[in-house]
Amino acid sequence: MNVESGGGLLLPLVLVHGGAGNVPSERRELHVEGCRAAARAGYQRLSEGGSALDAVQAAVKVLEDLPQFNAGTGAALNAEGQVSHDASLMRGSDLAAGAVGALMSFRNPIEVARAVLEEGRHVLYVGPGARAFAIERGFTEVEAEALVTEEARAALAKFRADGGSGGWAGGTVGAVAVDATGQLAAGTSTGGTLGKRVGRLGDSPIIGAGTLADDSSCAVSCTGDGEAILKLGLSQVAASYLRAGESAEQAARLAVTRLQERLQGASGLILVTPQGRFAWARSTATMSFAVVGAGGEQAGI
Ligand code: ASP
Repeated sequence: MNVESGGGLLLPLVLVHGGAGNVPSERRELHVEGCRAAARAGYQRLSEGGSALDAVQAAVKVLEDLPQFNAGTGAALNAEGQVSHDASLMRGSDLAAGAVGALMSFRNPIEVARAVLEEGRHVLYVGPGARAFAIERGFTEVEAEALVTEEARAALAKFRADGGSGGWAGGTVGAVAVDATGQLAAGTSTGGTLGKRVGRLGDSPIIGAGTLADDSSCAVSCTGDGEAILKLGLSQVAASYLRAGESAEQAARLAVTRLQERLQGASGLILVTPQGRFAWARSTATMSFAVVGAGGEQAGI
């Protein structure tokens, strides 16, 4: 499989992805539109004086609320037909991070991850502890059913009818941003893999695997084969290529290639540096993305 990549230079900017996968051609525009709306919302926060972290959070929230993506409302269902969200956020200046895993009844897991980051005591809460934390912090719990779409139900039914194969839903979302002073942030949110066992966490809530922001290298959000991404620590791999002197585009491309060669894992990622060099790469058929920055906009799949 070929690795597709691209990139450029803009400062400040917000770059988002709508998941590595294989979106059918008639739905591709819907995914690109969603990414564009999210990147614009993130950039709006930067223009209002918000931080890179605010921009990432705002962009991911838009994607969580759009039912075509596998995050927030419309997330892929687990083996018991439930939504089980994973999300993480990281700030590059001080490496502050917050994440939640197996959170089942909140509309915007990325906002709960932000609260974890702001509290600063722990980095990752899962399951009942994540729920208790969210309630304590004033988040409103919704009926879990309110987050389930007809499409998600149909996808699970097909997964079961096919004997539980092809459990990769695609449609995970993520964002990276750099503000005008070169400060970075990254975030990722997902329902994980379709029909996953109860209790399974993927790479998305794991700092250094699914998400990384470090002003000394780059901000990264990954998507794809979560088990493989976890084993390799894909975000850190991309950052290490950059530290070794590779360009943003080469670092993204080499990391995705390494996952493919070492573990036969399919993936995609987005990356931005403190200088505003940005890149994306994917080894899958599609990964929707959009970038909005001081110098303009670009979107594709
Ligand atoms: N990486 C996600 C997970 O394994 C899935 C995806 O990106 O599509 O949970």
